Amino acid sequence: MYKFFVSSDQIQNNHVKILGEDVKHISNVLRLQPLEKLTICDKDVNKSYVAEINNINKEYVECTIVNEIKETTESNVNIDLYQGLPKSDKMEYIIQKTIEIGVGNIYPVTFERCVVKLDKKTEEKKLERWKKIAEAAAKQSKRDVISNIENVINIENICQNIKKYDIILLAYENEQNNTLKYELQKLDRDKKLSIGVIIGPEGGLSEKEVEKLIIAGAKCVSLGKRILRTETASLVMLSDIIYEFEL
Ligand code: SAM
Repeated sequence: MYKFFVSSDQIQNNHVKILGEDVKHISNVLRLQPLEKLTICDKDVNKSYVAEINNINKEYVECTIVNEIKETTESNVNIDLYQGLPKSDKMEYIIQKTIEIGVGNIYPVTFERCVVKLDKKTEEKKLERWKKIAEAAAKQSKRDVISNIENVINIENICQNIKKYDIILLAYENEQNNTLKYELQKLDRDKKLSIGVIIGPEGGLSEKEVEKLIIAGAKCVSLGKRILRTETASLVMLSDIIYEFEL
């Protein structure tokens, strides 16, 4: 069942007031009744709880916290995705699926060969929709954290960010030798790792962009001999890393 995200100010002395669209979902879709239980997450402190419903009406659902859920659904590795802006609504698909798999923050990136060019207004509208999709995916997959969908950035921003990661991996279809397995197996497993992943748009990255990212410290890795769609590459890369460190 869904996990309902609330902010800390909706919790007072173990009493929780759920508001907004979730109220309709609880009463009309899940048809929950008083005394039944649901899972909530305080998104300000990333803590999850089992709560018992006391009262349901059109405006809000009141619950009492029964117990904290100690074990987390979050992965033991943080993976931020730098996603080349894809065409049409593929970004929505990538956001939904990578959140289910366990992605950290998602940075939409404009590369040279991106067909999509977003003006400020369109970007704001897209970000609003993408954040809604992120919250819905986090609820459905019972994450303890809603991944941030960051503002659209460029390759220079990635180069500035590279140092904050234990490794940043560039999925590069022309990479003949270096493998994801080799790069992951070199990492120190005795700490919570922070990994960045760069996936190009439909048209890929230019040689110049690849060069720039390598100089900044990114490691090129192949995802196999076949050419994957941008939306497939993100899922493959995320899944492989989760497989390596969590499963
Ligand atoms: N050069 C590609 C082509 O010939 O169609 C265009 C880029 S591909 C559709 C989109 C992105 O997915 C690439 O920029 C890369 O990040 C990733 N990708 C696809 N296949 C890959 C592979 N076999 N190894 C590593 N990355 C891959």
